[in-house]
Amino acid sequence: MAYSAEVVRRARARLAQAKEDRASENRQHLERAYAQVPRIKEIDMQLRRTMAQAAQAAFQQGGGQELLDRARQENLALQRERERLAAKYFEEGYLDETPICVHCGGSGYVGANMCECLRELCRQEQKKEVTILSGGKETFSQFRLDYYSDRVDPKYGRSPRQIMEKVLQNCRQYAFSFAPEAGNLLFVGNTGLGKTFLAACIARVVADRGYSVCYETAAHLFGKLEQARFNPSEDSRREAAKLTECDLLILDDLGTEMPGQFVTSALYSLLCDRLLAGKPMVITTNLNVDEVSRRYSPQIASRLYGGFQRLTFVGEDIRVLKNRGY
Ligand SMILES: [Zn+2]
Repeated sequence: MAYSAEVVRRARARLAQAKEDRASENRQHLERAYAQVPRIKEIDMQLRRTMAQAAQAAFQQGGGQELLDRARQENLALQRERERLAAKYFEEGYLDETPICVHCGGSGYVGANMCECLRELCRQEQKKEVTILSGGKETFSQFRLDYYSDRVDPKYGRSPRQIMEKVLQNCRQYAFSFAPEAGNLLFVGNTGLGKTFLAACIARVVADRGYSVCYETAAHLFGKLEQARFNPSEDSRREAAKLTECDLLILDDLGTEMPGQFVTSALYSLLCDRLLAGKPMVITTNLNVDEVSRRYSPQIASRLYGGFQRLTFVGEDIRVLKNRGY
């Protein structure tokens, strides 16, 4: 998974904190044990001494082996006594200095690979990010097909409900089987037909499955790119880089941003970068192909309408229906 540097940074900070908490807990247990059973403190001091002796013996010629054996035996006897005392006075595991993770010891890495413990924290941080951005708790099962008419529309030869059932099914399948080669979706249709809702559902499921997801409204996304371009800082550059690097980019409401030359060129490079890298996108828009062509450029229209699987949203504006009390 390509987690952004920011997500990994937050996850590592949490792991470091957890490791520190565990270490300080271990220290407290030890202090309490020393106060309550002074013999344990003596044993620990003796253990350190026999360890030092063993190290010395290892460097001695001739009689070294005998010394080493004696130190080792003494060491074992002390350890056993310590275990007996611990079992007698404290609950199980009280004096075990167990690391926060048995695989990586709390460093977060096993060799060059990220340990599962840090991966899990990355997933959690990633999920937070999507929740912050889309703000909701949209789930596929909340999608109300009954808002769409079941009367056959002669224009499509099917009812809006049948069409939207298929759209919902496509979105579900996309989200639950999402992989780096998942391809791109383009949601086209008027306002209030559930495009944003289903895009947010996809964001949540894909992020839950451990992928990095950026969810942005068009206005917000171009704002970020503008910052990075005209007011570059460490932060703004990192934010902009995320848009190109994340596993899935969801661009909501394309066409609602302020138009301009910058928007057109930024959109074009973003599309090209991601298409070239084979990184999936979901884009929602009210614009049809001609409108995209006029508003941005024919090249962008051909990228959008050629490189994306198009899902057409139909029906009546759900917000209007809700206001009428449906
Ligand atoms: Zn670990």
